Amino acid sequence: MKGEKYLFVVSGPSGTGKDTVVAKLLGSHPEIEKTVSATTRTMRKGEVNGKNYHFLTKEQFETALAEGNIVEHTCYCENYYGTLRSEVERHMEQQIPVILVIEVEGAGNIKRMYPGSTTIFVMPPDMKELEHRLRYRGTEAEEIIQKRLRRAETEIARSADYDEHVVNDVVDTCAEEIYSIIQKRIAEPDAE
Ligand code: 5GP
Repeated sequence: MKGEKYLFVVSGPSGTGKDTVVAKLLGSHPEIEKTVSATTRTMRKGEVNGKNYHFLTKEQFETALAEGNIVEHTCYCENYYGTLRSEVERHMEQQIPVILVIEVEGAGNIKRMYPGSTTIFVMPPDMKELEHRLRYRGTEAEEIIQKRLRRAETEIARSADYDEHVVNDVVDTCAEEIYSIIQKRIAEPDAE
């Protein structure tokens, strides 16, 4: 489909710092945008509805799903997360490079639906560092941290399916590596 090359999927285990890396990238390169997903999880301190996520109730999410407004979704640690169709289609039509920060299952679904998209996996420097970052963030209870750590191991095991791999050791370097991947891809001819 025309415009698929403008879609960039970024995944990485919770605590890997992918959101910080993507925020850095968007700050330095305002021509690149990020999709705002819908979720049923509770808002964290500092998050803004409509900016970080569209925070929906379970009923609202299920209605959006039934009406076909969500292009892929998953249940992650007992909450729904989904990409809005309007977000993906607008960027493809307007030829604006866009990043979807989503987990591995969603990434696989997007790649199947839009084979011209590019999937990028952000690796933590190591598992110890990942655990440290999750705890240091202090936003989740111990039980959730344990769930996210277990999920991280499964996600890393599936990272081989991604087109590109970067390590988040130094945020700025990692952001620029992703930027190079984007620049290279959008310079390629578009599929019809
Ligand atoms: P968090 O609760 O930390 O914001 O997000 C949990 C996980 O859900 C992260 O791996 C994040 O990338 C993923 N996620 C966020 N939005 C979406 C989405 O629209 N679809 C899918 N499949 N995963 C998402």
